Amino acid sequence: SYYIPPKFLDRLSVHITKNFLALPNVKVPLILGIHGRKGEGKTFMCELVFKRMGLGAVYMSAGELESPDAGDPARLIRLRYREAGEWSRTHGRMAVLMINDVDAGIGRVDASTQYTVNTQLVNATLMNIADNPTNVQLPGSYDAEPTQRIPIIVTGNDFATLYAPLIRDGRMEKFFWDPTRDDRLGIVAGIFEADGVPRSDVEALVDHFAEQATDFFGALRSRLYDEQVRTLIHQVGIDKISQEVVHSDGKPTEFQKPNFSLQHLIEIGTEMVQEQERIRELRLVSEYNE
Ligand code: ADP
Repeated sequence: SYYIPPKFLDRLSVHITKNFLALPNVKVPLILGIHGRKGEGKTFMCELVFKRMGLGAVYMSAGELESPDAGDPARLIRLRYREAGEWSRTHGRMAVLMINDVDAGIGRVDASTQYTVNTQLVNATLMNIADNPTNVQLPGSYDAEPTQRIPIIVTGNDFATLYAPLIRDGRMEKFFWDPTRDDRLGIVAGIFEADGVPRSDVEALVDHFAEQATDFFGALRSRLYDEQVRTLIHQVGIDKISQEVVHSDGKPTEFQKPNFSLQHLIEIGTEMVQEQERIRELRLVSEYNE
């Protein structure tokens, strides 16, 4: 099963829970901002934690923040926030509002660019909710009942691109996610658990690809299965694979396990690294030609 590093679980569960408790004279920021390198599992592990805690999550994507055409994003945030509150009330459980890749939606490309009108509206809305979490109204209607307070979790790459007042301490608690070797060992061991890869091989693999983010190891596992599927297609023949894989009883065919030896893992991993490098070179070439 999947492994959640203790520190990640701790930060997330404490932030969410304290937002639902009435702590005496403690000002609790509504937003938790998890930032760090792409592909390190911020989004993935948030979902694992939500499931583990049995809480309700309402999602917003960067695309929805960005596009004024997709309906008014500022209104949508308020709507989703209230939705999460409704869920919490009807289920009698905690809920969160989750916004993935915020910096992609409302960040600046560089320090000299201006924030668009839409971005400013979204920032203002988030700040407003953080400052008045129990009074979140939809434009054009007024609800005298207080709104249920709902913690907001945002993930992103580089929070330096965000509007500074939004990430102020009173509004947002920051959590920089940079997994240690131990965290990575736990996560990668979880990824290959079902395949029976021994702990010593996991260690060697993680150390061999020390520069790679967590998603590399997930992709590596899926590559190994691709290879096996390809072999099966070649053995059976592309014209026969369709009837061969689905039996008359509708059950899928038994599948041979891929080769999970350390040597093979490193071999496929090295191919993946070479592909990454090819992309980087092509990008350099196109930058050079510009
Ligand atoms: P980020 O949000 O930091 O950019 P993601 O959450 O998208 O990264 O994670 C990328 C991929 O890494 C996931 O799709 C998953 O395959 C893998 N991954 C991350 N964390 C774990 C974990 N704890 N266990 C198993 N796989 C994980």
